[in-house]
Amino acid sequence: MTEAWGPDDEDDRRRRGASGPVRVRVPSKINLHLGVGPLRADGYHELSTVYHAISLYDELTARRGDTLTLTMEGEGAGELALDESNLVIKATRALAAYTGMPAHARLHLRKQIPLAGGLAGGSADAAAALVACDALWGTGLSRDELARIAAGIGSDVPFLVYGGTALGTGRGEVVSPVLARPVSWHWVVAVADGGLATPQAYGELDRLRAAGGAPEPVGEPDALLAALRQRDPAVLAAALGNDLQAAALSLRPALAETLKAGEAAGALAGLVSGSGPTCVFLARDAAHAERIADELIAANVCRDARAAHGPVAGARVS
Ligand code: ATP
Repeated sequence: MTEAWGPDDEDDRRRRGASGPVRVRVPSKINLHLGVGPLRADGYHELSTVYHAISLYDELTARRGDTLTLTMEGEGAGELALDESNLVIKATRALAAYTGMPAHARLHLRKQIPLAGGLAGGSADAAAALVACDALWGTGLSRDELARIAAGIGSDVPFLVYGGTALGTGRGEVVSPVLARPVSWHWVVAVADGGLATPQAYGELDRLRAAGGAPEPVGEPDALLAALRQRDPAVLAAALGNDLQAAALSLRPALAETLKAGEAAGALAGLVSGSGPTCVFLARDAAHAERIADELIAANVCRDARAAHGPVAGARVS
């Protein structure tokens, strides 16, 4: 596997690629802060966000092949199209176009990240495809080059190439790492029944704002960035914020029950992840997160609840 090779083997790697399967693990993301600015002329909103990669993973395996094929299992199997519309295929073709390689690979996706959940699962899979095919084909691109290709695929894809905790600006595709203490934060991810289309959530926020019914915007993430420089989850809890939460709650009023149940279970804070409908809760530690997850499942306010931690690395050969 590529990660076991030292820098002296770099030329060799570029020449050969991998002969065996390449397995890549990729995390999901939550937004610790999601400030949605005005709608731009190109139809995107100007964002000011803090991305955070958490330990709820998809896994993509790439093998050599004579054509490009994609199979899958897990979340969304039987529902998610595996054709040219799939972000894995789009990313593989984008890498092939950039490197001049034929887009040949047999790809298999094991999906744990719920579809249209506000956790950027599709973007994660695209990032995984870039890293996996780069290793399979031996094209040896740097992370920065992969991130540049990623930006053409979707706004969240560059972040999932890097992982960690990072500031996202522009439409989210301009990513810079956040300098934070090396602290692990513990989360509970409450998965809802069914997804919520991201454009629908942005449309609802525009509607609420035009009608004067949206809460005060969260603005710039200064307080959140300051909180990340401390070790206290209670301080982080007070700084979390998401402008899309009001839109997700308006489209899915039942999410208010999920948020309330998390608070009742002792979470330090709860918020909608990205465009929803997944809700995430901050816990004091790993055991606390497990207890909150159990209580959310018992309260029957979500399809599933899982403990996770962050920050974790982006798409990596495992
Ligand atoms: P975000 O948080 O980035 O807005 P999301 O988590 O709400 O995204 P995703 O699961 O990333 O939603 O994907 C949204 C849509 O993208 C899906 O409903 C599907 O139509 C399309 N899509 C294409 N390829 C994939 C993929 N590999 N996995 C998931 N969705 C994909």
